[in-house]
Amino acid sequence: MTTQLQDGFGRSIDYLRMSVTDRCDFRCVYCMAEDMTFLPRQQVLGLEELYRLAALFVRNGVKKIRLTGGEPLVRQGIVGLCEKIAALPGLRELVMTSNGSQLGKLARPLADAGVRRMNISLDSLQDDKFRAITRTGELSQVLAGIEAARQAGFARIKLNTVVMQGRNADEVVDLVDYAVSRGLDISFIEEMPLGEVGRSRGESFCSSDQVRALIGARYTLLDSPEQSGGPARYVRLKEFPDSRIGFISPHSHNFCSTCNRVRLTVEGRLLLCLGHENSIDLRALLRRYPETDQPLLDAIRAGLNRKPLRHEFSSNGDVQILRFMNASGG
Ligand code: SAM
Ligand code: SF4
Repeated sequence: MTTQLQDGFGRSIDYLRMSVTDRCDFRCVYCMAEDMTFLPRQQVLGLEELYRLAALFVRNGVKKIRLTGGEPLVRQGIVGLCEKIAALPGLRELVMTSNGSQLGKLARPLADAGVRRMNISLDSLQDDKFRAITRTGELSQVLAGIEAARQAGFARIKLNTVVMQGRNADEVVDLVDYAVSRGLDISFIEEMPLGEVGRSRGESFCSSDQVRALIGARYTLLDSPEQSGGPARYVRLKEFPDSRIGFISPHSHNFCSTCNRVRLTVEGRLLLCLGHENSIDLRALLRRYPETDQPLLDAIRAGLNRKPLRHEFSSNGDVQILRFMNASGG
């Protein structure tokens, strides 16, 4: 029997974000520490396990799946997994968040496999700053990846930028120019306190209102009621109406009331809210009951009843959540 998953507050859960790996070829300063220990292989869900969970969620009303990580494109077999998930009856769209480094070779295979939209992280257009933020990333490789994605035929491409004072806040308008001149969308994200990354986040915090003011000094912003099924609020520019500019503001504008999502870590923990530690261990159930999905479904339903009403981040940069973003599936 299939039913629409709902949480204890009556919110329909139709969006699943799945982390397919905790590994990454970058070490972005806001996401990871310089020295990271990754999970041993047996603790990570296999491709078949990821697919089994995706299919179960889609049978129970999930319409949109986002694959993320870590960097999803460093996971072996990712294109085949995309192909199988995209073909699930009832799924409206399969989308992905990537750092772009592997898109030069994988953009076309992913589009052919059925990935409809691509979010690509881009925090700077200057080689040295890009390297300082990502620690290991090569800007030219990512820009080539974005071009490959533009050629590959995705329905939409959106850039994601985490804005930090002293690192890239001075590039906000340049990044907007880069996006709008190519017909791409761009979202600016307030840094969230996920994981101890060896520095105080409060010092570099840049609010969405500050970013908005920087863009407003150059362009005419038109408020837009558009929703992407995500937490962003959008504006369009009068001068470039084709692109959407989004603001993701976990600190300054709480977006929890319309939350429709849950996250699956690559260890198979279902996180009910990015801002809380409570989770359900689906990996144990997957492995204990290889033949039947009912125990999994029962656990998911019981867990959703405990999904919190809202998260509780503060803007002073204190770490409240010990998980890193790469492990929770950004
Ligand atoms: N590796 C891929 C990427 O970078 O796009 C996908 C995973 S990454 C964890 C997903 C998104 O989370 C990226 O846009 C990244 O900028 C964002 N992110 C990571 N750590 C963050 C933090 N502490 N605060 C806000 N956004 C963060
Ligand atoms: Fe890797 Fe993405 Fe985290 Fe950067 S934000 S370290 S690219 S997972």
